Amino acid sequence: MRIATFVHNGKRHVGQVSVDGMQVTAFAISDDLAQRGAQPLIETMVNGQALPALSGATLNLTDVKLEAPLPLPRRNVWCVGRNYHAHAKELQASVFKDSNSDTQAWPIVFTKVPECVVGPTDDVQLPDAAVSQQIDYEAELAVVIGLGGKNISQADAMKHVFGYTVVNDVTARDVQMRHQQWDMGKSFDTFCPMGPWLVTADEIDGRQTRVRCWVNGELRQDGPTENMIFDIPTLIETISRGITLYPGDIIATGTPAGVGMGLNPPRYIVKGDVIRVEIDGIGQIENRFV
Ligand code: MG
Repeated sequence: MRIATFVHNGKRHVGQVSVDGMQVTAFAISDDLAQRGAQPLIETMVNGQALPALSGATLNLTDVKLEAPLPLPRRNVWCVGRNYHAHAKELQASVFKDSNSDTQAWPIVFTKVPECVVGPTDDVQLPDAAVSQQIDYEAELAVVIGLGGKNISQADAMKHVFGYTVVNDVTARDVQMRHQQWDMGKSFDTFCPMGPWLVTADEIDGRQTRVRCWVNGELRQDGPTENMIFDIPTLIETISRGITLYPGDIIATGTPAGVGMGLNPPRYIVKGDVIRVEIDGIGQIENRFV
């Protein structure tokens, strides 16, 4: 099932996308619940309760505005750095140069604040040049947690995956490298485009799909998720060590090679660039940088 959060006639709804991906029908939930996007449906399904009925008209997706499936995640988005071998290599002289040997054994984990999430077609705001001049894209598969838990084993981890969505982990490289922690360079307003919807784990296995990214139509990133250094079960096991994961938590699983900083010379995002991220079995997001 594909669960979309969308606006129609000025009101936010949460709905099920049709099998052909052309239409959406809203669930019968209150306006207050709809404000939380897919979150209440995730909680309903995790609790084993029946989903609310589909109500109202079936709308063409071209007649609605899609939002991020979780427009304001319940807490920070977990993110993984340096999780594809080729990407680790392309930034080994810059972002990863101070990484100590422990990063070989353990993933780099940081977060983005919930408020930086925007929808799959929303504009991303480039900051003033005084704030950053090195804005970059990172196409990523995001895992959405269903059943919560703590100290989850790799063997059990996939049972905790509710589904998947697409994110662009937009990054201010100069700010990222200026601070010991990455959160600032990753959390600028609008720096987490997400969507186009949430695909439940019965429809796709995130361990075996393909992440691609185009800048103004030019293919820059193309990575199979089988190439992750730390696979999804390992990430869930690691992040849940001593920390309870909750339904609706999001884990952005890292980006393949081909980011702007890794090119020679680097090619950072400029005003007017349009960046499209697509993941097989989920869909695509496309955002203009303004
Ligand atoms: Mg990233």
